[in-house]
Amino acid sequence: MWDVIVVGAGPAGASAALGALAADPSLSVLLLDRHDFPRDKACGDGIAPHVLDLLAGVGVTGLLDDWMPVRRFVLNRGAAGVDRELARPTWVVPRTVFDHRLVEAAQAAGAHLIRRRVRDLTIGSGPVAVDDLHARFVVGADGAHSIVRRELGVKPAPVALAIRGYAPTPPERAAAQVIAYGPGRQPSYAWSFDRGDGLSNVGYGELLAGTRPTRADLLKHLEELLPGATEGGESWWGHHLPLAGWNWRPQRGPVLLAGDAAGLINPMTGEGIYYAVATGLLAGRSIADALRAGSGDAGTPYRRRTSRLLSRHLRDTALVAQLSRSDRILDAGIRAASADQLIFDDLVELGLADGGLTRRLLRTILP
Ligand SMILES: Cc1cc2nc3c(=O)[nH]c(=O)nc-3n(C[C@H](O)[C@H](O)[C@H](O)COP(=O)(O)OP(=O)(O)OC[C@H]3O[C@@H](n4cnc5c(N)ncnc54)[C@H](O)[C@@H]3O)c2cc1C
Repeated sequence: MWDVIVVGAGPAGASAALGALAADPSLSVLLLDRHDFPRDKACGDGIAPHVLDLLAGVGVTGLLDDWMPVRRFVLNRGAAGVDRELARPTWVVPRTVFDHRLVEAAQAAGAHLIRRRVRDLTIGSGPVAVDDLHARFVVGADGAHSIVRRELGVKPAPVALAIRGYAPTPPERAAAQVIAYGPGRQPSYAWSFDRGDGLSNVGYGELLAGTRPTRADLLKHLEELLPGATEGGESWWGHHLPLAGWNWRPQRGPVLLAGDAAGLINPMTGEGIYYAVATGLLAGRSIADALRAGSGDAGTPYRRRTSRLLSRHLRDTALVAQLSRSDRILDAGIRAASADQLIFDDLVELGLADGGLTRRLLRTILP
């Protein structure tokens, strides 16, 4: 019998283990993942500084010190564009590296890691059964196609589809995160994120509605928006992104969802690592709260903690994502960010972490 079983050892799962063990190092925490680490994950590899702030709060520091910080951010859409320095640098680190280091940090804190593909979850009045294993509490951190979410009966979120690859960095896109919005339905954009080691993570993604684009379609859009981006590219991998809505609310009970399993990806930018780490840590802490209180319901403290951090942000992001489907509003936002560093900074906070709609942003995007 484990105190906590965490299904999935990506950023959400490793953070759940870290959150629980930071609150109570004596807890028995089992991390299950279908893959051995290091393992790859389709991603743009963009890591916001806020992720490192959260991890520092549970004693995990220096994780990316040997990778180049990226200070320049370029965003284009046809004739409108912005090219500015970020208030705080971001990082572009392959998930083979980042996720492995994070899972090692969870193991160093006391979590046990076992390779296993979970197939079944049984929730009754007593402990939760995860296949033939049992725990007082379970965190479903098993990504976009979560079986824990399915077993809980939580409806899937609207999804985007994106492909990423690694390609040599051309000089004009060096030391920058470059995003080029498509001319059609939003959100749809191509990116080129310089890792700082001669390669860039390049990719293209769009909201799924109606027909599903093929791999060839996605690569064609990437090349159209960022000419030359696919040259010399390899390790192409497409994956779904479940997009967060304004009304996300965790369920009560012993099973919590975190990260992509909870349907938490920023609908403006496709960023999900911040939410994964934030909700993973809060899920772990909420389970420690429930165990301390002798309660079988970790969902209530989890709801309280996540609501404090994310409610307003998710509402505001959903609104901006909806508004930015209008060409006029999207262009107005890009022009305003180009003209004013503070508006640029506000948009970055909204798109990469837990920022909200500020007055100056509202003045920009509302007619
Ligand atoms: C192409 C693309 C580009 C993206 N770019 C960015 C970006 O630049 N920045 C950003 O912040 N976010 C980005 N995202 C989103 C980001 O990748 C996810 O939000 C993030 O990986 C979520 O972490 P997670 O731990 O919730 O899930 P994952 O990282 O998917 O981890 C889930 C883990 O669960 C394991 N698992 C799954 N099923 C089972 C099972 N049945 N049993 C056991 N283990 C299981 C998997 O092996 C995996 O290790 C991008 C996504 C895509 C697809």
